[in-house]
Formats: sequence, C-alpha cells, structure tokens
Amino acid sequence: MDIILLGPPGAGKGTQAQRLVDRRGMVQLSTGDMLRAAVKAGTPVGLKAKAVMEAGELVSDAIVSALIGEHLDQSAGKGAIFDGFPRTQHQAEALDILLGERGRALSHVIELGVDEEALVERITGRFTCATCSAPYHDRFKPTKVEGTCDVCGGHEFKRRPDDNEQTVRTRMAEYRAKTAPILPYYEERGLVSRVDGMASVEEVAAQIDRILDSAR
Ligand code: AMP
Repeated sequence: MDIILLGPPGAGKGTQAQRLVDRRGMVQLSTGDMLRAAVKAGTPVGLKAKAVMEAGELVSDAIVSALIGEHLDQSAGKGAIFDGFPRTQHQAEALDILLGERGRALSHVIELGVDEEALVERITGRFTCATCSAPYHDRFKPTKVEGTCDVCGGHEFKRRPDDNEQTVRTRMAEYRAKTAPILPYYEERGLVSRVDGMASVEEVAAQIDRILDSAR
C-alpha cells in the first residue's frame, strides 16, 4: 500500500509517518530528510538545495523527483509513505510515472488539516536531541530536566535552521500556492481522505488507521 501524507509544515506528517513505520513496517520517504542528508554530506544536490531550503522555498521538481526515484525501491513490497512529496502538480505527475513503471499505484492521499497560526507556534518551538534525535518542544514537550535529554541523557540539542517564524511563513505560503492545488488531481480519483491534524497525535493516528483499514 503506497500512501501520501499531505499537509503544511508542522501538520504532523513526520510524526505520523514514523508511527506507520513502527506499527506497519512501511517505509517513510521524506524528501525533506533526503535533502537535509544531502546538505549535511555536501553533495552537489545538497549544495544546490541549501539556500533554497533556508529561505523556505521549494527545491526544483527535477531534484526531488530524482531523489524519490532513487529511494523508491526501498519500499517495494512494504508500502511507501510519501512525506513532504509531492509538493507540486509536476511532482504529482512524476510520482504517478515512477509508481506506474513499477506496477504500483497510490491507495490513499491523507490530508492533515490544520490551523496555520497554531502551526507557527508548533514549528518554531520544536527541537531535537543532537545525540539520539528524540523530539521535544519548548512549550508542549520540554525535557523533564532542563538541558538533559529524557531518552539518552545528552546535553546537546538542535533546531532546524528553517524552523524560524519568517521561513515558516514562506513555507506555508508555498504550501498554499503550490501544494494544496494538487488535491483535486487526487480527488478526481477518489483517493483523498481528510483528518483533523489539530487533534492529539493518538487521535490523528487512530483516524489514519481507520482510513488505511477501510476497504477500497
Ligand atoms: P520538510 O522537511 O518536508 O518540511 O522540507 C524542508 C524543505 O525542504 C522545504 O521547505 C523545501 O525547501 C525542501 N523540500 C522538501 N521536500 C520538497 C519537495 N517535495 N519539493 C520541493 N522542495 C522540497
């Protein structure tokens, strides 16, 4: 089963994708993670993408579609969760071609609906442990002991450079202008389900489970 999690930055796509990986053995394909790895490794793709990502704008369709093409076969037989991809009509069409070439097709497009102002607070407060990547939030999920990771005891934390308010607003504008308009492409095929992304992580997960377990 191949699915797309669609929603603006901070809607909870990554959190829900990770849960589906743990519970269902699916494979998360996040173009944001792939690009961050490329930036960190200093590859040619990373060098091109860095400034675009820091500005909160979209990396070129050709680059992200190629990244998905390179990673897609990791999910063969397990099911892919596309997280942060596709973000444009062109990417949506590229994905159909990549899947079709492999005899695969999308089963569900799940849209996480959210309130934008609440998202800004969600995103600008998030940070992770630099050692074990455990996720935290200044207000909603601080560490139990200030400056110490609950999971591994580490003392270093990091924030994504694009999680500042100005960049977040640009990322949301990009979502509204380029990504939300691809929904009708999937609606025509009866693939879209909506969940309330402002509900708790557990409630959103339960809604997603119901969609994935429903016969189609
Ligand atoms: P994300 O982790 O999904 O929020 O992505 C972080 C940043 O990576 C975005 O703000 C874009 O600059 C870039 N990016 C990730 N996925 C895509 C995509 N499918 N198309 C274009 N740019 C992307």
